Amino acid sequence: MTDKLPDWLNPEPWLRFAREADAQSIQQAVFSEEPGERELALLLSPQAGEQLELMARRAQSITRRHFGRTIGLYAPLYLSNYCSGGCLYCGFASDRDEKRQKLTRDEATEELLAMREMGIEEILLLTGERTPHADFDYLHEHVSLAAEYFHRVIIEVFPMAKNEYRQLAEAGCTGVTLYQETYDPVVYEKMHRWGPKRDFSQRLEAPERALGGGLRSAGLGALLGLGDPVFDMLCLYRHAKHLLKHYWQAGVSLSFPRIRPQLGGFQPEHPVDEKMLAQFAFAFRICLPEVPLVLSTREGERVRDGLAGVGISKMSVASKTTVGGYSHEENNSTGQFEISDDRDPEAFCAMLRSKGLEPVFKNWDSAYRETAHYQQT
Ligand code: SF4
Repeated sequence: MTDKLPDWLNPEPWLRFAREADAQSIQQAVFSEEPGERELALLLSPQAGEQLELMARRAQSITRRHFGRTIGLYAPLYLSNYCSGGCLYCGFASDRDEKRQKLTRDEATEELLAMREMGIEEILLLTGERTPHADFDYLHEHVSLAAEYFHRVIIEVFPMAKNEYRQLAEAGCTGVTLYQETYDPVVYEKMHRWGPKRDFSQRLEAPERALGGGLRSAGLGALLGLGDPVFDMLCLYRHAKHLLKHYWQAGVSLSFPRIRPQLGGFQPEHPVDEKMLAQFAFAFRICLPEVPLVLSTREGERVRDGLAGVGISKMSVASKTTVGGYSHEENNSTGQFEISDDRDPEAFCAMLRSKGLEPVFKNWDSAYRETAHYQQT
């Protein structure tokens, strides 16, 4: 049976603003002093795509006001690509002809050291769905290990129970990234053919359980291309506001991943081009001025260079989407998806500096972990 959207998430009342947007209402939204859902809907509308220059200037000025000229940097480490999931858009789905592997503790240590050597300070640890190969205990062990080397350890793994998030927080985990992929329950059901990820609500509520369990930050996102992008972006906004209301001390960040070529050859039904991607980033920057907006190496150099500091305030660098890959170049796995920007940290930072931006590898100290304690309001 298909899940229903909870009332707090349903964007239906605001979709009509996107449908009825005109040039004047869009300009008013760009310069609104108190932008909310109505303004976001207007700025996500196809008509707002004609005012991209204006939106870009406003987004850049807001980004500078709230983030200065800094760009936070992080890098992902895939611990395992074992997965029981059947997500249509993923190269690690269990029916893909992909070599399965996971890092041993020694291999993970090598990778972590290689990443430290590259100057990375914030690390994102990834696995597929929970399997006997990479279960909670495996994750817990590797979070503890990563916390010995990195100040900030974020996980992008399977949804968990609150007490599991609590144990990970105690082991040094600082945040969770968990994309709903699409907020349309019907499309969601179609995309997730089998496996635990079919449970829409279990995934939707996981970031809340993570913050309730003591993690300090939650990264949300929708995989652009799966569902109607305006619907998904409005739901993403509602999801972020919901978390910020209940966990006001927590950090919430948003990402705008687009589907990339992957083993399986899935083609999106609602492709989002570069111009739309930029429009969405500007719209969110205008309507959520203080929320970090993230862009990964899924995107190519042109898009990343263009959006850095113009809405986007955080970026991944030198990413590998294969298991490991930092300490040993030779890796015959194809990865979860193809990355587009393979510049090393030095080259990427040089680009940022040439644009007057300052790369920031560390804006967090592990000493703060001791103070991690959030109360639900
Ligand atoms: S998206 Fe995640 S759960 Fe789905 S197949 Fe890929 S690794 Fe597995």
